[in-house]
Amino acid sequence: MESEAPIHVLMVSYPGQGHINPLLRLAKFLADKGFFVTFSTADAVGKLMRTANDISHKSVTPVGDGFLKFEFFDDGGVTSSDDSKRTLSDFNAQVERSGRQYVSQVIKEHAETNHPVSCIINNPFVPWVCDVAADHGIPSAMLWVQSAASFTAYYSYFHKLVPFPSQADPYHDVKLASVVLKYNEVPDFLHPFSPYQTLGTVILEQFKNLSKPFCVLVDSFEELESDYINYLSEFVNIRPIGPLFKSPTATDTSEIRGDFLKSDDCIEWLNSRAAASVVYISFGSIVCPPQEQVTEIAHGLLESEVSFLWVLKPPTKVFGLPPYVLPDGFLEETREKGKVVQWSPQEEVLGHGSVACFVTHCGWNSSMEGVTLGVPMLTFPAWGDQVTNAKFLVDVYGVAIKLGYGQTEKKIVSREEVKKRLLEATVGPKAEELKKNALRWKMAAEAAVAANGSSAKNLDAFLKDIKKRGAVRVKEI
Ligand code: UDP
Repeated sequence: MESEAPIHVLMVSYPGQGHINPLLRLAKFLADKGFFVTFSTADAVGKLMRTANDISHKSVTPVGDGFLKFEFFDDGGVTSSDDSKRTLSDFNAQVERSGRQYVSQVIKEHAETNHPVSCIINNPFVPWVCDVAADHGIPSAMLWVQSAASFTAYYSYFHKLVPFPSQADPYHDVKLASVVLKYNEVPDFLHPFSPYQTLGTVILEQFKNLSKPFCVLVDSFEELESDYINYLSEFVNIRPIGPLFKSPTATDTSEIRGDFLKSDDCIEWLNSRAAASVVYISFGSIVCPPQEQVTEIAHGLLESEVSFLWVLKPPTKVFGLPPYVLPDGFLEETREKGKVVQWSPQEEVLGHGSVACFVTHCGWNSSMEGVTLGVPMLTFPAWGDQVTNAKFLVDVYGVAIKLGYGQTEKKIVSREEVKKRLLEATVGPKAEELKKNALRWKMAAEAAVAANGSSAKNLDAFLKDIKKRGAVRVKEI
């Protein structure tokens, strides 16, 4: 039976902010183009998303020519247990158990209808999604939410293509395509000194079943990472389709968001500041710098006298850290010049004309947002691919100044250094050079997603691909 119903794409995201954001951006794009997209993740974060945004479980929203439905699967009460006792492995195992059941059930429920699930898209950390899809004979694709360079690192490590730092040789440099990464610039989950090697294991799981997804989408663009994309193309059907948050849609989808926290009001405050005068500071959704580092940053801000917007969330529960304390009188003294918030509408902030530079933990989403919006950066990575992204932002893309170290190095950046680097990134010849490079990348990113741009063409080819595969499935039913 042939059907006019929109092609149904099921998306399954790992319950992390840095995973939800890029996958949801792709979901909105596909819905806008006429697909019926079910966007799902564990209820552990579904609860947060429903509280912070105007979305609800199972409601279907028309988006452009298609539809977007949020669905949050029961995670077996994974959030109700005591956070401090729960390890990440327990959490991931529980998400996998409930997620596998959920995905199978959605496939079965829709199999006999006129909109069976025709394609499943996941992101890393939930590689089992590709297994379930394959078991049911449904095509799947994976959206890699880090850079193509980081993908190359994990791929090369997994297939032992080049030697990596090891217990025997922990300071080994790694040559990946055109760039040599020092031992502390390799995604640090792969490093023997990292306290988070289990996360490396979780990511490498995705590389075990890479033959299952029919393609790997990357939230990056060819012009930015051509060496890595060309290199990987020999082994993997890789399609850079980013920056996803800049992909034009016929309808405005900016109100559909998946934040875990409600944003504080930042835009009105930014409107009151002079052009290119504000330093924006954010360490993403998970990273919590040590209290001592927070104190040094605060003093660096005071001493440099710059205007700032600082996202300072209370430390993430799993780390069991006490709430941050700012130096005595800090908020009063900086009332005229600064604002401290718990969460910001980051894309809007980075796109605001009063922002001069971005002190970032270098998560890939934040890095892409900064690069794509033409904002010079100061790098303050903590772990994982952040240390690799920091290297690329500084030495390859030329848009950033190095400020912090990965947390494995246990180094605190002094207030003097913070002040010096903040001033270097905001006034004078280095600031101008960074801005010039940043604007060059901004133009390249905009061209990549514009009609006939490299990412737009790849997205178009992907849409055609899933339409073709979807049409075949609907005929089969
Ligand atoms: N973000 C935001 N408001 C904030 C801080 C972060 O909207 O105050 C968003 C940011 O735009 C990005 C995501 O949260 O899309 C963080 O992802 P990233 O990969 O940078 O870091 P992670 O949180 O995964 O470490």
